Amino acid sequence: MTNVNQQEMEKLFEAAWQAAENSYSPYSEFRVGAALRLTNGETVTGTNVENVSYGLTVCAERAAVARAVSEFGPKVRIAAAAVANLNRSASPPCGACRQVLAEFMTPDAPVMFPAADGTRTMALSELLPLGSEMKLK
Ligand SMILES: [Zn+2]
Repeated sequence: MTNVNQQEMEKLFEAAWQAAENSYSPYSEFRVGAALRLTNGETVTGTNVENVSYGLTVCAERAAVARAVSEFGPKVRIAAAAVANLNRSASPPCGACRQVLAEFMTPDAPVMFPAADGTRTMALSELLPLGSEMKLK
């Protein structure tokens, strides 16, 4: 996996936990935060933003990616990601978020998340096999 050590991953997880405090989740009350370590050394966070329609809900991971691109431009790259939730439930990134992360992460980049058996870190390619092979041209 990319050169982000365990201590940095734990700091990233803590940042994700803090971001979850801002969750807008009046419907599910599932409070999620995500934190991204960018290759430029910056950290950006996001939280889930629910909508009464449910379908328009934005996950914490995608909110963080949108924030990273908004703040640092289209060349932004993500070295590592962490997801946390205040509900203490397993919450690996959903399929949509895995695909969106793959746009900005290398396949070997680590993703930390709460799993059924505790916090787990996996390479993005383990979460989304073949994710980096999607090409439009
Ligand atoms: Zn998601």
